[in-house]
Amino acid sequence: MRYVHDVTGRFKFRPYYEADEIDTECERLITAFMRERCGSLVLPVPTDMLRKLIERDASDLDPYADLSDEEAFIDGVTDFFMDPDRKPAVRIAKGLSEDSRRETRLRTTLTHEYFHVKFHGPLYELEARTPKLFPEMKRMMPVKCHRDSIASAASADWMEWQAGYGCGALLMLASHVRQLVGEYVRRHGLLLRPRVNSAHAAELQRQVAEEFFVSPEAARVRLLKLNCLTDQQADLPLPF
Ligand SMILES: [Zn+2]
Repeated sequence: MRYVHDVTGRFKFRPYYEADEIDTECERLITAFMRERCGSLVLPVPTDMLRKLIERDASDLDPYADLSDEEAFIDGVTDFFMDPDRKPAVRIAKGLSEDSRRETRLRTTLTHEYFHVKFHGPLYELEARTPKLFPEMKRMMPVKCHRDSIASAASADWMEWQAGYGCGALLMLASHVRQLVGEYVRRHGLLLRPRVNSAHAAELQRQVAEEFFVSPEAARVRLLKLNCLTDQQADLPLPF
């Protein structure tokens, strides 16, 4: 990780992570948490453990928040505070917690907001500790997360991109996804990266969705980001 200028203007500088740095850190973090709470890493990570992870590192988690006053399609919000000793707080749209058919979306939203808490909270804390010339003019803007950017956001907004990538990294641990794909390609004698619309891609997507209890769409995004599938026409080798 290194620091670069923050062109969004939120901070003077912001952290730049390579994707594999996020993978490594998220895998280490979820594995340690699961060992501490459950004795070993259990996959899929139980949804209740995802709530407990947020409760450990945030000041509050409201899984039944009424976000209807927010802009349309906001599924999660992370609030940051001017008091540097107060940790961030997370609000999840109640419709996700109340409807078991939306549990996969709940899981990606919980992990997305957790990434904001864990990786972006320290930036806000530092900002809150920095003396201001006009302190009354400064307030912390909440991060409001649009449904369409929970699992995958454009790279224009670094904070959403990181949280989108991080939610996949927390739920679908890189080494476990690669192991699953590795076994699949050996069994089927594949030499090239399956194309995203192929039968092999559909089967891999199904297996990843089942193994990690995520939506097929979140599985597809993760497989693409780990270069286990391709959306290009060119023949590409597998990354391992
Ligand atoms: Zn977000």
